[in-house]
Amino acid sequence: MQQKLNLYNTLTRKKEVFEPLHAPFVGMYLCGPTVYGEPHLGHARSAVTFDVLYRYLKYLKYKVRFVRNITDVGHLQNDADEGEDKIEKIAKAQKLEPMEVVQHYTNVYHRDLEKLNTLSPDIEPRASGHIIEQIEMIKEILENGFAYEVNGSVYFDVPAYNKDHNYGKLSGRIIEDLLSNTRDTEGQGEKRSPLDFALWKKASPSHIMRWPSPWSDGFPGWHLECSAMSRKYLGDNFDIHGGGLDLMFPHHECEIAQSQASHSHSDAAKYWVHNNMITVNGQKMGKSLGNFINLSELFSGNHQMLEQAYSPMTIRFFILQAHYRSTLDFSNEALQAARKGYTKLMNGLRVLDKIQYPEEGATPDEKLNEELLKLTEDCFRGLNDDMNTARTIASLFNLLKKINSLYLGQLQIGNLTRGTFDTMRETYRTLVLDILGLKEEPLGDQEEMLGLILDFYKEAKEAKAYDKVDVIRAELKKQGIVIKDLKTGTDWAYEE
Ligand SMILES: [Zn+2]
Repeated sequence: MQQKLNLYNTLTRKKEVFEPLHAPFVGMYLCGPTVYGEPHLGHARSAVTFDVLYRYLKYLKYKVRFVRNITDVGHLQNDADEGEDKIEKIAKAQKLEPMEVVQHYTNVYHRDLEKLNTLSPDIEPRASGHIIEQIEMIKEILENGFAYEVNGSVYFDVPAYNKDHNYGKLSGRIIEDLLSNTRDTEGQGEKRSPLDFALWKKASPSHIMRWPSPWSDGFPGWHLECSAMSRKYLGDNFDIHGGGLDLMFPHHECEIAQSQASHSHSDAAKYWVHNNMITVNGQKMGKSLGNFINLSELFSGNHQMLEQAYSPMTIRFFILQAHYRSTLDFSNEALQAARKGYTKLMNGLRVLDKIQYPEEGATPDEKLNEELLKLTEDCFRGLNDDMNTARTIASLFNLLKKINSLYLGQLQIGNLTRGTFDTMRETYRTLVLDILGLKEEPLGDQEEMLGLILDFYKEAKEAKAYDKVDVIRAELKKQGIVIKDLKTGTDWAYEE
């Protein structure tokens, strides 16, 4: 197949052919969660989007190192340089160690992402485990003249940096506009310019999480951890840096500035890839807006905005049926439609298992073969066009129409060549299971189904259809279930 993966690069504002710096190796860094609360749909979108990219790169035979961090220190309230640490605030309120909060929500994050069938990253570094690397990077930035120390805190000097670099190269923001939009210079405190951001903060007496440094006992700035950890595991310059669009500014803009101002002298990554946001009735969804839905609430249906529970694969399909750079609006209708789409793809897998290529008597029809091969190629076209999973799913549905026609005998399998048949089957399975990462979910309530079988058993017994009674008993026994005929009725038990 002569198609190449194209990715939209926020840094250059255009789609580019993906060419790794050191093929066949690919380094990919994704900003992970700040673990102070349950993951919500927004977290799921970022995780699933980059899971598909990770899976696809592996399918393309690249040797991928995927790093996704855990932010466990330094992320302050309102994403700014002032206020309490998000994790410390929860820890104080619940009288826990900050690391207990971190461990708890890290576990929850892993649990929910596993349900969504996302693959684990190859390295999952924590900010608090990389204080030394962060201090080193601050030293380099100070040495290069792009930072200054005030009262034990160190700030990045944005105006100094912007003289011969471009602060705003990623987000397209212009420094003069940013300055004129900064209404409030109060709270700027020690900073020389309101655009400057903290690399190291001196801890106040009440601050729990603190480490020694050349400047003070304190803690690193939020933006710095990703620069230090991505560099440690992927090098000065690596291939892909991902994250949600809400992280583009200031977080990623600051990451680039830090890398350029350090001894790395690079934009950190060649391709900067951003997934768009999930909206609720057109409004951005987020913790600070109070309209977010946790994944565990979606899975249980336990939230006032939910009409029912939605399974993890329904959520995964919901995310995949939109292009990652479009906004995705949450609604019960959209999730119900996603459920239908998901089950349709799963039924396709079941049908594929049932159809067989004939042992003999095949009479390939050239036109049909061409048509089917084109449909299979189309399935990859969407993915290669900036990971357009929406288009890939539409192509899979087109292919599925043919698969169903073959199953129903409206098209003859023998009219395909063996090669076309195998390509069709492989393409469908690989895309659905390995690249889109969908999987079969267990059938609904097993006890309810068992009740239904017991009803049939009772009917058969009343009708004295003993052959049927025996079959039902024997089949259930195979599953480790015995039927009990009691005076009060019929019941089942596990076979002892
Ligand atoms: Zn980050």
